[in-house]
Amino acid sequence: MKNIYIIGIGLIGGSLAIDIKRNDPETVIYGISRKDATLEEALSLKLIDKKATLDDISNADLVILAIPVDATVKLLPTVLDKISDSALVIDAGSTKLDICKAVENHPKRRNFLAMHPIAGTEYSGPSAAISNLFVGKTNIICEVEKTTFKLQEKALELFKSIGMRIRYMNPEAHDKHIAYVSHLSHISSFMLGKTVIEKEKNERDIFDMAGSGFASTVRLAKSSPEMWTPIFRQNKTNVIETLEEYINNLAHFKKLMESDDFEAVFDEMKNTNHIKDILEGIS
Ligand code: NAP
Repeated sequence: MKNIYIIGIGLIGGSLAIDIKRNDPETVIYGISRKDATLEEALSLKLIDKKATLDDISNADLVILAIPVDATVKLLPTVLDKISDSALVIDAGSTKLDICKAVENHPKRRNFLAMHPIAGTEYSGPSAAISNLFVGKTNIICEVEKTTFKLQEKALELFKSIGMRIRYMNPEAHDKHIAYVSHLSHISSFMLGKTVIEKEKNERDIFDMAGSGFASTVRLAKSSPEMWTPIFRQNKTNVIETLEEYINNLAHFKKLMESDDFEAVFDEMKNTNHIKDILEGIS
């Protein structure tokens, strides 16, 4: 693909830019963002070749939206309005139902493919972009049948070239499952961080006494609230359901300790050790 426009050159948009350009140096990567300073940073980091605006995308072979999910819902219909009949549009949002709904009746719906690359770090912005972020990671594609076959093929070729494995899911199932395996972990990490910060007022003590277990468990609490608040808003029902189950499990654990039932405490942990077998191979 010759002309690729990436809207949002942060962790995901920037990392896609690096891998796409490396695999096909002839491609021209254009960056579009709200703030000019962000585009300048992306240029200086060589993530993009040129700055652009939405008015330029009639010239695009591919447009990738990698901005917060509320911004995607607002912008995606306009992007589809502006592209040529042969262009492919992909979004990388962490929720899929509201995004797919936003364009379900759009005349260019068949130019759009909804994806969620299950890859990332806790960092954001252009400086967070890294190469090979997507290698061996799963890319969830929703409503593939609604994209023209030719554009599906183009998209799959691109995902294969950056090393991704494909899973197909409907948007409802995606949002329900992802609430458990991703959204809940972020809330749990944010609230663990909050609990420790509030209790241990002395930051030096936290730094000196916290082991790598604490650091790895609160890693996600460094994530961007600008990105996560819209995700929780869009996936509110599913996320609240997961929270209820999680809070019940925490309350049950506390109760076992209060009643000195340490055999049951042991069993709770022993049964959960099974997560090792499930996650083997994920780094
Ligand atoms: P990011 O690093 O914060 O980058 C997002 C970029 O979007 C920013 O550089 C920002 O540029 C721009 N932006 C923010 N608000 C905007 C708005 N209202 N309108 C237009 N542009 C806006 O975020 P990211 O982690 O790459 O996430 C991008 C998308 O990928 C999100 O939809 C997220 O759900 C999804 N995703 C994230 C991960 C992850 O682990 N982080 C994984 C998979 C999918 P300006 O400075 O110009 O505002």
